Amino acid sequence: MAMTTHREDDTSPRAPLGTWPTLLEPAPRLARALGLGPEDLWVKRDDLTGLGGGGNKIRKLEWTCGAALAAGATTLVTTGAPQSNHARLTAAAGARLGLRVVLVLAGAPGGTASGNLALDGLFGATVVWAADGEPLDSRARKVVEEERARGEVPALIPFGGSSALGARGYVECARELLDQAPDLATVVVALGSGGTMAGLVAHLGTSRVLGVHCGAVTDPAATVTRLVDELAGPGGVTGAPRLRLDQVGDGYDTPGEPVMNALTLAARTEGIVLDPIYTGRAMAGLIAAVADGDITPGRRTVFLHTGGLPGLFGHPATLARAGAALLSPPDNPRHAPTA
Ligand SMILES: *Cc1c(COP(=O)(O)O)cnc(C)c1O
Repeated sequence: MAMTTHREDDTSPRAPLGTWPTLLEPAPRLARALGLGPEDLWVKRDDLTGLGGGGNKIRKLEWTCGAALAAGATTLVTTGAPQSNHARLTAAAGARLGLRVVLVLAGAPGGTASGNLALDGLFGATVVWAADGEPLDSRARKVVEEERARGEVPALIPFGGSSALGARGYVECARELLDQAPDLATVVVALGSGGTMAGLVAHLGTSRVLGVHCGAVTDPAATVTRLVDELAGPGGVTGAPRLRLDQVGDGYDTPGEPVMNALTLAARTEGIVLDPIYTGRAMAGLIAAVADGDITPGRRTVFLHTGGLPGLFGHPATLARAGAALLSPPDNPRHAPTA
């Protein structure tokens, strides 16, 4: 059920980091390739949010960094996977705001940094590797203590930026989207740490937001519901989140074949680059939703492009497949008419 009210403390400071509003663009060739009408599918370009290569984390960081600055922070500390887009954009936000950034990442140093990790270094962030089996949160709390000991004022930004505060950025996005597309039937979004979907659901209701689980959290429905309840108040939004759980493949880092197909199709019909972890899964979920009748022609579907391009350059298996695809063009739909 749609619900447009939510608790909001309008005195909360917001650090200006991104470029708004993001574009809403038609995707007629991709729509036709999926069996939709040419007017049915639109792409909300939250990959083009400006700062640091762009992506959905910027909307959340405007709120979490705003709170950090208001609290007098001098260092931002956050956690993530080695190819975390959120970590990269936190590093960029720190550079923009003149704050020190420490990233606590899962794994071990070694080899040449690629993709997001290379950008983390370029933005001047310090990377701390959590020891094998050490929970990221407890390592991050240690880093916070270490920062205090050296006289800094640390602010801990949550995993993926997904606190209720960060998710407000996606309440804003939902407002923006309704201005651009009042007849919106479904917005399809990748579900990682959950804040993006939760912010959308808090403003649009459960039925208009389809989340595609990417395998980053163990209980996606509970994760989203908890954040929605914090944003809208318990019972403020009714119904269970609308989710697809069929695109996780062999796990977060190992997308399945439908994801590779989705990457190829979006690239060849619209010149849009998706990433193998999030947006490729979301598009594979959209394709599956059209195939099984959950998304139908004649109604407006919006694909929320949440960014992730640097992650493609940090995922060797996908890069190898993409390069090989250049050599085998038979299923390239480039000559498909648009109408
Ligand atoms: C983090 C991320 C998501 C998921 O957003 P959450 O708010 O964590 O659920 C989707 N796409 C990309 C590219 C991301 O980096």
